[in-house]
Amino acid sequence: AKNCGKNNAKLYSSSLTMQIMSHVKLEVGLRKALQNNELYLLYQPQIDVSSAQIVGVEALVRWRHPEHGIIPPNDFIPLAEETGLIVPIGEWVLRTACTQAKAWQQTCRRAIRMAVNLSARQFKDENLTQIVLSALGDTGLEPRLLELELTEGTLMDDARATMIMLEQLRGIGVLLSIDDFGTGYSSMSYLKRFDVRALKIDKSFIVGLPQDSENAAITRAIIAMAHGLKMIVVAEGVETGEQLLLLEQYGCDMAQGYFLGRPAPQDAITRMLAAQRAP
Ligand code: C2E
Ligand code: CA
Ligand code: CA
Ligand code: CA
Repeated sequence: AKNCGKNNAKLYSSSLTMQIMSHVKLEVGLRKALQNNELYLLYQPQIDVSSAQIVGVEALVRWRHPEHGIIPPNDFIPLAEETGLIVPIGEWVLRTACTQAKAWQQTCRRAIRMAVNLSARQFKDENLTQIVLSALGDTGLEPRLLELELTEGTLMDDARATMIMLEQLRGIGVLLSIDDFGTGYSSMSYLKRFDVRALKIDKSFIVGLPQDSENAAITRAIIAMAHGLKMIVVAEGVETGEQLLLLEQYGCDMAQGYFLGRPAPQDAITRMLAAQRAP
């Protein structure tokens, strides 16, 4: 019976592995992950819907655990937030992503925008502006090629502090977008005041398209509102050609999802960029 239990354990998804693995062990491991080079980034293409060109990528972190294999971010980013480890991890992500974006700009002679996820804890760190500035300065990446993705929750936390931080970041010249849009609370008056470039429609609204008429209505409404506020719209989680076609009809500006490219290592992205000629 013991043996049987052991075999079953191997079938568990990594997220169950995380539940079984003690919190303390995970934290100890995560502390060492950075110095042991166990973190790495994948990049997912972001496509301009009308030209079908890759115009940007989103950096997505992974942890190659020495015993448990590859751990997805949903299994360790929450712990990283709780423990504050997200601050050094986030800085590493930012620097690695900026270095890569600069390399693509030089080797592919194409300006590829790099989107980086920021967690609430990073956004509250008073050193954030300095961290972003030095990542840009050290890598030579132009600020307009860096986009920071924030969730509604992060933005709604503390109105005054949020405005100050957003103004500082916009002052540097980096772009801002609101991630998972539609799943949290967004005050419309806030959206008007924030100088945000893009709304990313959460993939939960895209998944049922084109059949789901309610999600279609929400998607169209978000696009109309964003355009009215002079923001662009990125659809996340585009998994079929039908969805892409519908989004094009709705006037959606950009799309990201498995249909267009899964998160991939940098060399795979380099090949994709090389395969498409500059417009
Ligand atoms: P997110 O920012 O909403 O990222 C999009 C997630 O959707 C990614 O999951 C991506 O692999 C997945 N995805 C992309 N296309 C499709 C699709 O067509 N269908 C479906 N079902 N999923 C798709 P991933 O890489 O596991 O990341 C999960 C979350 O972890 C991210 O959600 C983000 O909130 C967080 N995360 C990832 N990297 C970082 C990071 O460097 N820093 C921080 N703070 N958070 C990160
Ligand atoms: Ca994101
Ligand atoms: Ca998202
Ligand atoms: Ca998310």
